[in-house]
Amino acid sequence: LMLKRSVSRLLTEHQTISSNLIDVAHELNRFETHCDQLNHELGLVKRLSMTDELTRLPNRRAFLKRLQNESGRVQRYGYPLSVAILDLDLFKEINDTYGHAVGDEVLKAYTQNVLSTFRNYDLVARYGGEEFAVLLPHTDIYGAERALNKVLQKTAETKLTSTHEDTTIRLPSFSAGVALYQEGEPIESVINRADKAMYNAKKMGRNRVVVETNAAV
Ligand code: GH3
Ligand code: MG
Ligand code: MG
Repeated sequence: LMLKRSVSRLLTEHQTISSNLIDVAHELNRFETHCDQLNHELGLVKRLSMTDELTRLPNRRAFLKRLQNESGRVQRYGYPLSVAILDLDLFKEINDTYGHAVGDEVLKAYTQNVLSTFRNYDLVARYGGEEFAVLLPHTDIYGAERALNKVLQKTAETKLTSTHEDTTIRLPSFSAGVALYQEGEPIESVINRADKAMYNAKKMGRNRVVVETNAAV
């Protein structure tokens, strides 16, 4: 009788342990699902923090990060790297004439129909309001100038049919400055030089590409 009792007690204990183990397994499963979900959300947040909402282009943060990486590669492998800043010409007039919504449409049309002309491994980013920045790896300043002029040509050939206003408008031209990354310089410096060249393009009458030539090489 004593033996029978202790066997039955052992059996009960065994059942409790195994049911506890099943609970733990369920708990672990739930935990794993939760982790997967968090990881997924983290990926979304990372992508959002690097993306411009209106155009879906990489934003300024993404551009600076990539430029930082590319500048390191230039030091290691020594290939040319060009940086261009584009600013749409008299963009305020579009907002003032057709409204802000049409201005937004122009920025999207620019992204889809004009800036898509750049090569796949060029990084095109929305740098500010109506400013774009382009990173052209393996491209010297004259190659970059040619690429920019091709895109400028495309601008002149592209029209936008607005969905907000019953109107078709020509896309505005842009002014661009191009600078060649100098080995060892901080990335802010090459951006500043491209920006200065862009302002020269504005001063010279807009709708043009200006190459920065007085860098100390
Ligand atoms: P410039 O040729 O000298 O560059 O003339 P501009 O009119 O383009 O220059 P300005 O800097 O005076 O105006 C830029 C305008 O871009 C003003 C601002 O309202 C507009 N803008 C900036 N971001 C956006 C945007 O996201 N959507 C719209 N619709 N307009 C924007
Ligand atoms: Mg501007
Ligand atoms: Mg402008």
